[in-house]
Amino acid sequence: MVQANHIIPEREEAPRTHCIRCGTCCMKGGPTLHEEDAILFTKGILKRSDVYTLRKGEVVRNIDDTLLVLEQEIIKIKGQGEAWSCMFYDDDQGACRIYDHRPLECRALKCWDLRGFKEVMERPCLQRRDLIKRDDGILEIISAHEQRCAYETLESAVSGLRGPDSDKAVENILALLQYDHYMRPLLTEKLKVDPNAMDFFFGRPLTTTIRMFGLCVKQEGDTFLLVPVESHTS
Ligand code: SF4
Repeated sequence: MVQANHIIPEREEAPRTHCIRCGTCCMKGGPTLHEEDAILFTKGILKRSDVYTLRKGEVVRNIDDTLLVLEQEIIKIKGQGEAWSCMFYDDDQGACRIYDHRPLECRALKCWDLRGFKEVMERPCLQRRDLIKRDDGILEIISAHEQRCAYETLESAVSGLRGPDSDKAVENILALLQYDHYMRPLLTEKLKVDPNAMDFFFGRPLTTTIRMFGLCVKQEGDTFLLVPVESHTS
């Protein structure tokens, strides 16, 4: 599960009036980007390989800790490997590596006064199409991927597991996972698409996000096996 936006640090007993650079907000997930942040890509502060897309239909955790199904895609700055910390957070220095150019949400977030942050959260989010030239052929590939691998389609296939033809449902799910999995290296090989920007272009791999449906994938060679999350982690 990912945070849709920055999570808010718990309040201390004495109310703050300024930032004490505790780093909590940067260690609990990178910001969601808004239209005003597009300029950071134009200036080269951010690259498409620094961000990832959460697609429509993904389940995320909101700042109030409730679960939320995204009604439209959002783009977030990546974490540090498996950790939540924003990739631009420098642990040793306790500082942001792009502080002077930090995104809108980061500038608005004052954990002692959330009014400005809440106002910013309502502003239009950046979309993939805002960062891709209109004549770039990748837009068509993204569109085809959206049609084939929509979360609505995956959810429908998963619900088929409880129906009379569960074998067919498994087949459908695996077909989606394999399409999403194998198209990525193919695009790098054939069209030289940056492999580090795949999660921006196509969202996180379905083999990862399928966990939101209580399933995970074991890969044995070219074969994918679907297993319930509990049995995979036990
Ligand atoms: S961009 Fe900078 S300020 Fe914003 S979350 Fe990352 S490290 Fe923190």
